Amino acid sequence: MTATLAPNVARPRTAAAPSPELYVIATHKVRDRGGKPPFRWVPYGVEHAWKPGERQTLCGEWTSGWTVFWERRFSAQPSTACPACIEASLPAASRRRLDPLRASA
Ligand SMILES: [Zn+2]
Repeated sequence: MTATLAPNVARPRTAAAPSPELYVIATHKVRDRGGKPPFRWVPYGVEHAWKPGERQTLCGEWTSGWTVFWERRFSAQPSTACPACIEASLPAASRRRLDPLRASA
């Protein structure tokens, strides 16, 4: 992290920080057998980002029949996080920073 941002510019949220209003949603769920009973449901497969009230994920998948994990905020950290949802959840400023080629096109 650099400290070169101008003071009047809002500091962009890092990709690693969970979004407070985005929840994990997935097509499948499995029991987490890692701990002790009762086993929690955990996402199986790709973890998409979903905002309450929406009928689609951030990346545009229809969520009918999917499982929302209310105790999980969407985060870019897990390797199973949907890349398109990660990109869509980023503030526009950091999106340009991450992908300068697309921003200039
Ligand atoms: Zn997605």
